[in-house]
Parts: sequence; C-alpha cells; structure tokens
Amino acid sequence: MTRLVIIGGGHAAAQIATSLRMKKFEGEVTLISDEPVVPYQRPPLSKMYLSGEITAERLPILREQAYEAAGINLKLGVRATAIDRDGKTVTLADGEVIGYDKLILALGGRARRLDCKGANLAGIHYVRTMTDTDAMRGEFTSARHVLIVGGGYIGLEVAAVARKAGKHVTVIEAADRILARVVAPEVSEFYTHLHSEEGVNILTGEMVAEIEGTDRASAVITASGKRFEADMIVAGIGLIPNAELAIAAGLGATEAGISVNEHCQTTAPDIYAVGDVSWFKHTFYGREMRLESVQNAVDQAKVAVEHMMGEDAHYDSLPWFWSDQYGLKLQIAGLSTGYDTLVVRGDPLDRSVAFFYMKDGAIIAADCVGRIAEFMNAKKLIAARIKVPAAMLADDSRPFKEIAAELLAE
Ligand SMILES: Cc1cc2nc3c(=O)[nH]c(=O)nc-3n(C[C@H](O)[C@H](O)[C@H](O)COP(=O)(O)OP(=O)(O)OC[C@H]3O[C@@H](n4cnc5c(N)ncnc54)[C@H](O)[C@@H]3O)c2cc1C
Repeated sequence: MTRLVIIGGGHAAAQIATSLRMKKFEGEVTLISDEPVVPYQRPPLSKMYLSGEITAERLPILREQAYEAAGINLKLGVRATAIDRDGKTVTLADGEVIGYDKLILALGGRARRLDCKGANLAGIHYVRTMTDTDAMRGEFTSARHVLIVGGGYIGLEVAAVARKAGKHVTVIEAADRILARVVAPEVSEFYTHLHSEEGVNILTGEMVAEIEGTDRASAVITASGKRFEADMIVAGIGLIPNAELAIAAGLGATEAGISVNEHCQTTAPDIYAVGDVSWFKHTFYGREMRLESVQNAVDQAKVAVEHMMGEDAHYDSLPWFWSDQYGLKLQIAGLSTGYDTLVVRGDPLDRSVAFFYMKDGAIIAADCVGRIAEFMNAKKLIAARIKVPAAMLADDSRPFKEIAAELLAE
C-alpha cells in the first residue's frame, strides 16, 4: 500500500484528489493545508467574490464529501513544517509526524508585501486567500477612496470591482505602463483606455514611498511627492513562491521555486512539486519558468499523479489564462515573451479585439478580448507552430474559425 501525502490546499491539490479518484488510486492519501477550508477557487477573489456576485458556497473546487469519497484524509488548518527525506516523513506544526512513500508539494505562493514606511498600518490589503477578500469586503462598503498598488491583473480586477461599486479608484504602477510584464504596449494601452473610460485614475512610473496614517492608512505618498487620499489600499505586487520547505529539505529549490523535471519530479524521485511553486523548463517555449495559473496547477497535478502511478506522463501543455474586468473577458493563449510582431484583429475601441503575438511568422501567443473563437483557434495555431500570414489574421471580415481551418489544413 502506497502512502501519498499532499502538502497544499489550492487548485493543484484539488486536481490531485480528482485525478487520484479517476485513476482509482488505492493507497492511503493525506492532504495537509494550512488554510482552514477545503481547496477553493482563487480567481473569483479579485472578481465575482469580491463584488459579491457569488458567495462563499460557490468557491470550493470539490465538496468535502468528494475527498471522503476518494478516501482522502484531510488535515486542514495545520501547517507542514519540515520534510525528512531519509525518514520519509512530514512534520506538522501540531507535532504530528506523517510517513509517506510519495509526496506531492502543491504549496503555491503568498502575496508580496509592501515594505515602505507605514506598510504595517491597518487598511492595507493583499488578495491571495478567502480571508484576505473577506477582510477587503468588510471595508469596501464604507471606503470612498480605494488606492491600488500594482497595475497587474489582480490590481486591475480589483480596480474594476471598486469602480463598479462607485469608489474613487487610483492605480499606482511602478513600470511605465500597466501589465508591462505580460502584454504588448498596445494591450496595455487598451486596458489603460478601458479603465480611464470607466473613471479610474492610473499613474504609471510611480513608486509608493510612504503610507500615511495613525492607526490605519489614510493616504499614500509617491516617490515623486504626489499625495493620494486612501480609505483602503490594495496591493497586487506579485507572488513569492512557498519554496522554503523544499529549500530546507535540500530539494533543488530556490527562492524562484522548486525545480522539477518534465514529470514534475523534484531532485528526489519520490517527491513531486506542482502549480505556482514549481520551476520548470517549458518544452514548447524552451526556457525555464514558473507559471501562476489555474491551467498550470491543474495540468501539472494531472502529470504528477499519472507519473507517480507508473504512466509516462510529461508536462507540455500550452499555457492559458483569463482576466475579467468590467464584464469583458480577456483570454490569453500562450506566452508572448520574445515576439517580434503584433497583429491586431478588430478595433480596440469596440472592446472586442484580438492581439496576436508573432515570432518568425508563427503565432506564439494571443490576447483575446471578447473573442472566444480567436482564443480557441489561436491555441491550435500556436500548437501547430505554422507560419501564418499577418493579413489573414487581421482580416476581421472573415470568421476566425474559417481562417484557422484554412491555415491548419495547409
Ligand atoms: C486574486 C487571484 C486571482 C487569480 N485569477 C486567476 C485567473 O483569472 N486565471 C488563472 O488562471 N489564475 C488566476 N489566479 C492564479 C491561480 O489562482 C493560481 O495559479 C492557483 O491558485 C495556483 O494553485 P496552487 O495549488 O499551485 O497554489 P495555491 O492555490 O496557492 O495553493 C497552495 C496552498 O498550499 C497551502 N500551503 C502552503 N504552504 C503550506 C504548508 N507548509 N503547509 C500546509 N499548507 C501549505 C497554502 O496556504 C494554499 O492553501 C489568481 C490568483 C489570485 C490570488
């Protein structure tokens, strides 16, 4: 009988449970999470759960009964503090020691904190857990001025919800444009325009130097000396992978994440690492990376379970992601780093547009706003690695499904 231990209670952990059930795993399984609830969806925390459009009951990925049915022993609200590779045990914060034959680390990450003067005042929020969003929602009703630090997806999603709730919203971004790390300047421009139209004040190239307040935050001072009133501050400034357990266990991990091979195995073959915490070489893009997406957490979890159960499973999925702002759905296929040409299909002013990132004549990524056909077919075109004429992609008079079918048939 194999004893499997999963540390982590997020998207990847829930997928491991599902995969174990589907694969009819017969060993003993223990899932350890330091959160007090069963694994739940994080994307709504900055979207529909924050806005109140969905309630907490809708967040769990699987009901508690599903873990019971799969024979998974849940240990919630307790932290794993050490891994002993020689003894093959995991020690928990309450002193319990659990033996394993196989171990899967699905540790995710935590929100990077602000470290300027005043960063410890009340009224400063981060968005990683349900508890974080519950705390924000508590202050959301009375706050008039919401100041957001960081113009990435999470910050912009919170800005959209806050604006819809009638708040005065300011976004402060250190880079010279929002979403700079992940999209082309044209896409940043699209989102800057969208938020400005909706009434959000976006400042780029500005760092937060200080947060003013006595008991709680009341204003933000930027490095250039600008002052903004703020009843609440929300920072979306990145994620720190929870790699410390693996670093301490000597598992080939660094602050950048836990290194794994194409089977999601760490340097110890009986220990796997999946999801936001894993650092791996993406075979399609040929470079090392860490990905923060539900797709990656789910697909890596599947690969780890399959490989652990003796199948020849490799991780080579095409990355995809989404973001919801003002009722507009952005769907992203692939990774745009290294593109040489951007092709725009549609009019950005219509709030329905697709941006194709090309490299050497082939599509490597696509950002599709309200364009499901472009998103679905871009995935196929990227995977096929075929050269595609830019003019064909840009021809919005023809349905994209038809264009893609023609290109894929060649
Ligand atoms: C606000 C927000 C919005 C997002 N929106 C999107 C989106 O629109 N689309 C998308 O694709 N992705 C989105 N993401 C990213 C996505 O949610 C993550 O990529 C995904 O949750 C990663 O899953 P994971 O299981 O690897 O890690 P996590 O979900 O972070 O789970 C890790 C779990 O392990 C626990 N843990 C860590 N260390 C220990 C320990 N030592 N002992 C016990 N437990 C431990 C943590 O507390 C946590 O419960 C969003 C994330 C956030 C926060």
